Amino acid sequence: MSNNEHPNASYLSCRPPYKGQCLCGAVQYSVDALEAKMGHCHCSMCRKFHGAAFATYGEAKTENFHWLSGESLLKSYHAANGTQRKFCGVCGSSLIFEEANASGAIVEFALGTLDSDISVKPDVHIFVGNKASWYSVEDDLPCFHEGRDSSREVL
Ligand SMILES: [Zn+2]
Ligand SMILES: [Zn+2]
Repeated sequence: MSNNEHPNASYLSCRPPYKGQCLCGAVQYSVDALEAKMGHCHCSMCRKFHGAAFATYGEAKTENFHWLSGESLLKSYHAANGTQRKFCGVCGSSLIFEEANASGAIVEFALGTLDSDISVKPDVHIFVGNKASWYSVEDDLPCFHEGRDSSREVL
């Protein structure tokens, strides 16, 4: 019986540690605590990496993110701009994004791979300047032309 069939599943599964895994299940991780930042990224690289309209990343302090299995199966794609994306070498699931000059203090992970329910919600759309023409943002979250720290909020 999976947690989802438990009558109190949503209550129980909203409590950490949160667990996630890739499509094939070889790579598994847990998260002790989520940070408040949770962005939908519309940049063309995230769109391609996910094969989707946008990517949504959760953030956790490095000490709160744990690989449970399959870390050795991870493959990395290093892009020309210095960013790094990690994915399952077996099934190809997108798992990790790292900025070019990442301090290593924060892990950004592909939220779609999470199996647990969480109470934190996405707070922003970023890189909407690269948004797919066929997707329209239809919520009230702030939209930034580039990163969330840029002053170029799109109204
Ligand atoms: Zn996999
Ligand atoms: Zn992106």
